[in-house]
Amino acid sequence: MLAEPVADRLFFTGEATAISYPSTVRGAVESGIRTAGEIGSGSGPGRSVIVIGAGASGLACARKLTDDGFEVTVLEMRDQVGGRVRSEELDGVPAELGASWIQGLTGSPLVGMAKDAGVEIVPFDFEFDFVNPEQRRAGLAGEAQMNKAFRSYDGSRAQAAVDPLSDSLPDRRTPGLQWAITYDVSQEYGADPEELSVLATWEGGSYGGGDALLAGNYADLLTTAAGDLPVQTSTAVVSVNHSGDGVVVGTVDGGSLSSDLVVVTVPIGVLKAGSISFEPELPAVNQQAIDALGAGVLDKLWLAFDEVFWEPHAEMFQWIDPDRPGLWAEWINGNHYLGKPLLMGLNGGSQAADLSNWSDEEVLRSGMSTLEAMYNLAG
Ligand SMILES: Cc1cc2nc3c(=O)[nH]c(=O)nc-3n(C[C@H](O)[C@H](O)[C@H](O)COP(=O)(O)OP(=O)(O)OC[C@H]3O[C@@H](n4cnc5c(N)ncnc54)[C@H](O)[C@@H]3O)c2cc1C
Repeated sequence: MLAEPVADRLFFTGEATAISYPSTVRGAVESGIRTAGEIGSGSGPGRSVIVIGAGASGLACARKLTDDGFEVTVLEMRDQVGGRVRSEELDGVPAELGASWIQGLTGSPLVGMAKDAGVEIVPFDFEFDFVNPEQRRAGLAGEAQMNKAFRSYDGSRAQAAVDPLSDSLPDRRTPGLQWAITYDVSQEYGADPEELSVLATWEGGSYGGGDALLAGNYADLLTTAAGDLPVQTSTAVVSVNHSGDGVVVGTVDGGSLSSDLVVVTVPIGVLKAGSISFEPELPAVNQQAIDALGAGVLDKLWLAFDEVFWEPHAEMFQWIDPDRPGLWAEWINGNHYLGKPLLMGLNGGSQAADLSNWSDEEVLRSGMSTLEAMYNLAG
């Protein structure tokens, strides 16, 4: 519904419009290419297009449009491209603050993009490594209980769109079940089962081919594929007027740019906040999608140590917090794929929302005391 073209002049794309792989970099790239293809088949080359947003989707869309002979300008609010793919450096290696995984290697354009960028793909099997056998038993039992509860849902598709996912779950939750819910739902969707419909967990395609991390910058995949596209950074768009034959895009500094067509790739949260005004108002179909779709929260904490004090070759570690099961439920081992003593802790949904109200020092203290508890337990 969001991707429905408006008067063949205004197009929405980005991960939120991806049907097969929503919420992923793959979905973002594929949606950008799909939208560029739709534009190309409906209007002749030589026309001008403004692409708003230089994330995975905007860059992929702009690249294809440019290759197809359109005159493309990309406007990006931040001072860097990549959007929710953001690679920073820690201890001399890339620490991904946004996306880390390529999800589903089979048929993914990201595999070729990694090859072109010279970035090594490291397969990741999501093998559990609990800190002790007791936590392992509790966690696996919780997972089995959760999966059984979800499988027992027998409502129709229409009903699944309105039934909260939490309805299928028992009210009384063991620590293991609460851990499983946080790990499999809150961290996967950035939202708790109370905030999700059953249908939310049915959407998307299957991630065939397994998943992988990268032993290099994720952002390099996007910038290498984008090539020499003209991107105006530090240019926030505040308005899109699509009332005439073409489009007039207004920027926060009071400037404006005109084009024949416009592609909007900003995150769903930006659209929901109304940060960009549309004149005339969007058709009901697009607005309804903006109102109905949600944005989740997923937070990462990267920690660098002098040396590895954990199982050096494990992919990741699971932790069931005795006081708050689900807090710091998962740690990724940087030593496994980056060869450095790094750990990345994850929180999603309401746990992450809570953490966002804490100071950096409080988050650090909480993460560190968890690791102390984890490794005391492990002996
Ligand atoms: C912490 C985290 C972890 C993730 N992990 C993974 C993962 O492991 N694997 C995976 O596949 N996916 C992951 N994702 C999801 C993935 O990063 C996104 O789905 C994908 O990058 C979205 O790309 P996009 O182009 O649709 O949107 P974005 O990357 O958000 O790009 C939109 C761009 O629009 C710009 N913009 C916003 N407002 C304006 C404006 N008014 N004017 C101009 N520009 C504007 C933004 O600055 C941004 O650059 C993760 C996301 C997060 C946040």
